Amino acid sequence: MNDISKQNIETLVKLQEAETQIVRLKAVLKKVEKEKGKLSGQLKQFGNALEEKKENFLSDKAACKDIEREIQIVDDRIIKSNEKLRMVKTNKEYQLFLREVDDNKKRKDALETELLEYLDEKEKTGKIVQESKKEYHLLKEKIEAEQKDIEKKFVDDRELLDEYLAQQKKIGKNLDPSLMTRFAKISKMNNGSAVVGVKNEVCMGCFMNIPPQLYIEVQRGNSLILCPQCSRILYYINT
Ligand SMILES: [Zn+2]
Repeated sequence: MNDISKQNIETLVKLQEAETQIVRLKAVLKKVEKEKGKLSGQLKQFGNALEEKKENFLSDKAACKDIEREIQIVDDRIIKSNEKLRMVKTNKEYQLFLREVDDNKKRKDALETELLEYLDEKEKTGKIVQESKKEYHLLKEKIEAEQKDIEKKFVDDRELLDEYLAQQKKIGKNLDPSLMTRFAKISKMNNGSAVVGVKNEVCMGCFMNIPPQLYIEVQRGNSLILCPQCSRILYYINT
């Protein structure tokens, strides 16, 4: 049942060589994919922070405009009150308009103080936006360069992976389908390592000693021998 030819074992070894590369490349690609996501996430996060800073600046700018508009209204009121003051007939009216002018002047003072604070704030947020913009552009350049490198590597590795997959498929055609299924199963259980050599009676997969009788069978190479410890397919390495 377990009898297979020497050629089968050679085919299994070749299959393993491709499998090792496939597993390695898949891991590399997964890592690169993650790195790509991380880089674009970084840029996006910085971009969002920049937008927030811009909004702060715009809100300060709008606040300044509002206060300036209100100052204009108060100014107009002061002018009107002063005009009325010049045309008063009674002392009572005089006192009334005088208080009106006075109240509006106080209001104007308060608004001007507020305006100064907002102008100050606007200057600060404006500077932050400018600096942030510069930083963003530098970061964008850096990240885009990194992304370009990564993308190139990704495409190269992807191509290489496709080559190995095609190669493995070709090799697999020479193998009995049940043996192929067995190979895939063992590979899946052992992180892509299904076929390992035995060197000086030691399994190169788990580094345990192989019982002498089994070792002789591995040396003969005409049956499918699995490591009693790690269940990998064994082949003989002549040292
Ligand atoms: Zn083993």
